[in-house]
Amino acid sequence: MIGMVKDLINKGYAYEADGDVYFRVKKFPQYGSLSKQPIDQLESGARIEVGEHKEDPLDFALWKKDEKFGYKSPWGVGRPGWHIECSAMSRKYLGKTIDIHAGGADLIFPHHENEIAQSECANGCKFVNYWLHNGFVTINKEKMSKSLGNFLTIDELLKKYDSNTIRFFILTNHYRMPVEFSDEALSSAQAGVKRMLNAKRTKINEDLDITKTDEYKSFVDAMDDDLNTSKALAVLFELTNKANKDDKDAFTILCKLASVLGFTFEKPTLTEDELKNAVKHVSDKLGKDFNSMEELIAYRKEARDAKNWDIADKIRVALDEVNIVLKDSKEGTSWEIK
Ligand SMILES: [Zn+2]
Repeated sequence: MIGMVKDLINKGYAYEADGDVYFRVKKFPQYGSLSKQPIDQLESGARIEVGEHKEDPLDFALWKKDEKFGYKSPWGVGRPGWHIECSAMSRKYLGKTIDIHAGGADLIFPHHENEIAQSECANGCKFVNYWLHNGFVTINKEKMSKSLGNFLTIDELLKKYDSNTIRFFILTNHYRMPVEFSDEALSSAQAGVKRMLNAKRTKINEDLDITKTDEYKSFVDAMDDDLNTSKALAVLFELTNKANKDDKDAFTILCKLASVLGFTFEKPTLTEDELKNAVKHVSDKLGKDFNSMEELIAYRKEARDAKNWDIADKIRVALDEVNIVLKDSKEGTSWEIK
């Protein structure tokens, strides 16, 4: 970071002022182009704080004097400004030009604007080819964030919904738009993804060149259109309908295109909560508490070994009511969804 700030000073893009170092924004005429803000509009909102010795209110800090918590530097004890670390790390680990830079929509200005200015002036070349700024996930119209404490982790969500449902929920919205999180939205995503994953299955035709199919072309067009994932999902639903109407290659195309978005056509499984509820259902029916499916399976084995067919049958019926079947094999007993 210090090296990069030094370079910027040497090239005339930055200056030291009383232990601080500032970037000279007017030396970089493209400033504001990422956030599409003309310089004069930015100027009207800029302020010089008390104690700052900027040449221009638009100039931003590359280094800040900080005698308490700072590091030694050519400009005295201080700490880096919060934009320069990204430019320095990006150059060190990814090179001078990166292909794609992502981030939340709130970082476009000033953070990403400043990253561009610092990197392009220090490196003398383009910083980023494509910027991807995502909308926020909101709950009750409020941004989901660590600081507000209204956030959910993927791990927590996975207890209630399977990964395909969460993936579907996110993909139905365009990445640039805000996503309102709610249980209703997740439930409808669950229904949608179920319909797709329950498409009538046929053997995968490995000889089929899917790149020659119309659906492939529509799917790629949608994804090339700034990752229009909801349009891409519509193609997958067309394929689902075709597969259900016995179109012979539809399922093969569906599987391959769906996997691009991370969907898997594995055997359906239950979430942690659903499994717990299923075990509880059997416990209630039998008037005996089981803590897990394994416990239940062991109890059934005991009953069968003792030729107590009545109990074994009751377990079968209770599991059937929650759509689960037990499969006995040489390796033991396992469960699956009917
Ligand atoms: Zn950054």
